[in-house]
Amino acid sequence: MSNINIASIKARTFDAIVIGSGISGGWAAKELTGKGLKTLVLERGREVRHITDYPTTMKQPWEFEHRGQLSREMKEANPIVSKCYAFYEGTEQFFVKDAEHPYVQEKPFDWIRGYQTGGKSLLWARQTQRWSEFDFEGPARDGFAVDWPIRYADLAPWYSYVEKFAGISGNKDGMDALPDGEFLPPHEMNCVEKHFTDSVAKNYSDRRIIQGRAAHITEAQPIHIQQGRATCQHRTICERGCPYGGYFSSNSSTLPWAAKTGKMTLRPHSVVHSIIYDEKKGKASGVRIVDSNTKEMIEYYAKIIFVNAAALNTNLILLNSISSRFPNGLGNDSGLLGKFVAFHNYRATINAEYEGYLDSTTDGRRPNSPYIPRFRNVYKQETDFLRGYAAGFSAGRYQNENRSGLGEYLKQNILNPKLNDVWHVGSHMMGETIPKESNFVTLDSNLKDAWGVPQLKISVDYDDNDVKMTKDYFEQLSDMFTKAGFKNIRTNDNNRTPGLDIHEMGGVRMGKDPKTSLLNKWNALHHCQNVFVTDGASMTSTSTQNPSLTYMALTARAADYAVKELKKGNL
Ligand SMILES: Cc1cc2nc3c(=O)[nH]c(=O)nc-3n(C[C@H](O)[C@H](O)[C@H](O)COP(=O)(O)OP(=O)(O)OC[C@H]3O[C@@H](n4cnc5c(N)ncnc54)[C@H](O)[C@@H]3O)c2cc1C
Ligand code: SF4
Repeated sequence: MSNINIASIKARTFDAIVIGSGISGGWAAKELTGKGLKTLVLERGREVRHITDYPTTMKQPWEFEHRGQLSREMKEANPIVSKCYAFYEGTEQFFVKDAEHPYVQEKPFDWIRGYQTGGKSLLWARQTQRWSEFDFEGPARDGFAVDWPIRYADLAPWYSYVEKFAGISGNKDGMDALPDGEFLPPHEMNCVEKHFTDSVAKNYSDRRIIQGRAAHITEAQPIHIQQGRATCQHRTICERGCPYGGYFSSNSSTLPWAAKTGKMTLRPHSVVHSIIYDEKKGKASGVRIVDSNTKEMIEYYAKIIFVNAAALNTNLILLNSISSRFPNGLGNDSGLLGKFVAFHNYRATINAEYEGYLDSTTDGRRPNSPYIPRFRNVYKQETDFLRGYAAGFSAGRYQNENRSGLGEYLKQNILNPKLNDVWHVGSHMMGETIPKESNFVTLDSNLKDAWGVPQLKISVDYDDNDVKMTKDYFEQLSDMFTKAGFKNIRTNDNNRTPGLDIHEMGGVRMGKDPKTSLLNKWNALHHCQNVFVTDGASMTSTSTQNPSLTYMALTARAADYAVKELKKGNL
């Protein structure tokens, strides 16, 4: 250790350490500092400050060297991240490039990451649905993974708590499979989306189309104005960073809020190597980092540690935290650390055309779209596959620019665009996958990254359940589309590799029994109770709903518990 003297150790000692400053780490920082804890936030990437560090947010298409497209060189150098729809010339600076942070694909896995303050919260698509009782009771009811140690009622008040602060828009739809939240006004549907909604309501008793619930401030409340955030302007270039704070990101919301308390120290360029375990005290005492600029290894100390490095990196850090008490990774007495990793099945899409409403067109922009909540196997098992899927849906009638011809002819074509003579409609599936022991991550025993940390080896794949679910989605959506009068229906199984859904979860799952799980009902390691994991790694199963709102609620709940226990002298 460098510089062993009392003053130095004191300067490196905090009440709490948070690893990672993305969606979940931002919430941990806000909650812990808000409750008076001197908190160190360790972030491996560079600092990205709200507004000042969004270099492309005001750029017009013609101001980009490649008109906003990826250059051929960028695509060739980054075959993995180039597959992500949100990676383009305006957002390149917020994504991890393939060569800089290598990992081992034992099976193909597109690992999409954002290493900077704010993590992927800058980039996300902001869909924010609560999970329901059917999700938390799922494994016990359907006999897979292990029983969650919590139920919806445990999380409901914490969903309300985070929703009010983050700002979530939506309708109160009154559905069992999709609990209502604390909503700002919803975005609107267009006429063809309403037509589909009405058609589904008329033809099915078990399914609904609703407006998506999204982390956008559609009507700023005093709590948002206090954060310096304003009502969303519907520019739909959110992933470049939003100067209005119109959507929720750690950079615009939780991190500045934590900084205002004066209790937060944010240290960028800090690659967490491992967590230090104190054998005598029987708990963790701190964290080892590698400064990414100097490559110096430095230790920091705290009474509680929140691990929020995003699901797979959290697995990596725990697997790399070796001591004589825990030779296979911190808290890993069960041998299950890194196992039961799961994700969302996003490989299916369906498109069609609609010839009605030709007196109407889409106008303006909307950073959100309608949502088809899960309707399969909700109340009872009714198919030959387990669980179900939700789906996105949208309709649009766009201008058809004819770019053919040359000279005056080309000019006239471009100056006089015509409306498409049909509406285009489309949907994508968001399927729950079943966590299995055979889907896992480990550390490669030879390969290390540029900071001396072992590379993560990922071995994750689809199974037969996913194939059956995809088939059912095609059948059901084709039927729903046909009943709505949509024509030219085309289904597409793109067979894309797991990972691109960017909803990887598990490996450090919650559970009741320390023999079959890593975390207790408060997200603390069963065997090292001052270490909390509240990102996707903690998830016992995956639901069909997007996961980040649930990470926020779990984090706020765990922080509340941790501080109370700390005050009682239990941690
Ligand atoms: C294009 C896109 C669309 C998405 N759409 C949605 C959506 O609509 N709804 C939804 O719910 N989710 C969505 N997601 C997923 C969402 O972004 C993640 O679920 C969420 O960001 C996870 O939060 P997190 O705190 O676990 O991780 P992150 O936000 O990724 O933050 C993790 C942080 O930890 C840091 N870190 C990692 N390793 C270390 C280390 N060793 N030491 C120090 N720091 C470390 C990283 O640099 C990063 O800043 C989307 C993601 C993308 C990219
Ligand atoms: S659409 Fe809203 S949230 Fe997105 S960039 Fe524009 S103002 Fe910001």
